[in-house]
Amino acid sequence: MQRILTRGEIETLDRTSIPRLILPKSDTFSTRAQRLRDLATDNPVQDYLLLIALLAEAQHQAFEQDWSLPPINELELAQAQAHGMPLFSASTHPRDDAWRAMLAAILEQLLQQEDLPAAVHDKVTQLTADTKTSPGLVEQQADALLTQKLEDIDPARAPFIMAALQVYWAQLTARLDSKQLPASTPFGLCPCCGSQPVSSTVQLGGPKEQIRYATCSLCAAQWHIVRVTCTHCEDTKTIAYHTLDEGSPAIKAESCDHCQHYRKILYLDKDQFAEAFADDLASLPLDILMGEAQFFRANNNPYLWQIAEPAS
Ligand SMILES: [Zn+2]
Ligand SMILES: [Zn+2]
Repeated sequence: MQRILTRGEIETLDRTSIPRLILPKSDTFSTRAQRLRDLATDNPVQDYLLLIALLAEAQHQAFEQDWSLPPINELELAQAQAHGMPLFSASTHPRDDAWRAMLAAILEQLLQQEDLPAAVHDKVTQLTADTKTSPGLVEQQADALLTQKLEDIDPARAPFIMAALQVYWAQLTARLDSKQLPASTPFGLCPCCGSQPVSSTVQLGGPKEQIRYATCSLCAAQWHIVRVTCTHCEDTKTIAYHTLDEGSPAIKAESCDHCQHYRKILYLDKDQFAEAFADDLASLPLDILMGEAQFFRANNNPYLWQIAEPAS
């Protein structure tokens, strides 16, 4: 008779058979756009989700183009491996100007959308002008976003600038071979770009069945993090799971009493179409619940830089 293994046993059984990393794919942004449209129906933030769906679609168009990014720098690769640091660290990697061309392409694509709200149209027009005439300002905003200098961030522009940075970093990361990464990198940060995860997802099918991966909020790479572990501080003893009574069973907030933070966790066996960015954004009532329970979001969703204070 065969004994059924516990979840922990399965995960430790043969670590080498579990892919460490899932790299961004050609449909990363189009899948996100479709999920945002699907989740918008009857959602309290329907209009916002539809706007971000347009943005994700524009990201998809930009991601499909060849921007001739410079080849991977062998010296940087050797340094990353020697120090156990992410290769394309968001806070230190010298960005190629191509990222601003990606931003211009995304903004142009948005301006062609007939259903773009008038107020957003004005903002996008202004940002388009700044991208041409004041690239230094746009670079400053990018630096503030990538180094989390929240006081320097313009929340109205942030989702658009982040959208271009996401496409740029996803293109960098998509070219990587996971063997090029250092064997170990700092916990809780993307092994490719050092950014924080937007959420984590318990996978379905094949060697990844029931294995949890965190999704990078910047480059969309996914990396393995053992379940029932705080994705923020690595604590394993004070983890709890929270859901909304009327919410989808495919999403929970994973909280940690040790650091008082939470991140959402998605379950593909409950909804195979759940998507790390879209489902996080579409579940703001869960954020309000967590705020009322005195937990803090570990980091922002890159498409939303202001979260309403929970009603007191
Ligand atoms: Zn990353
Ligand atoms: Zn924690």
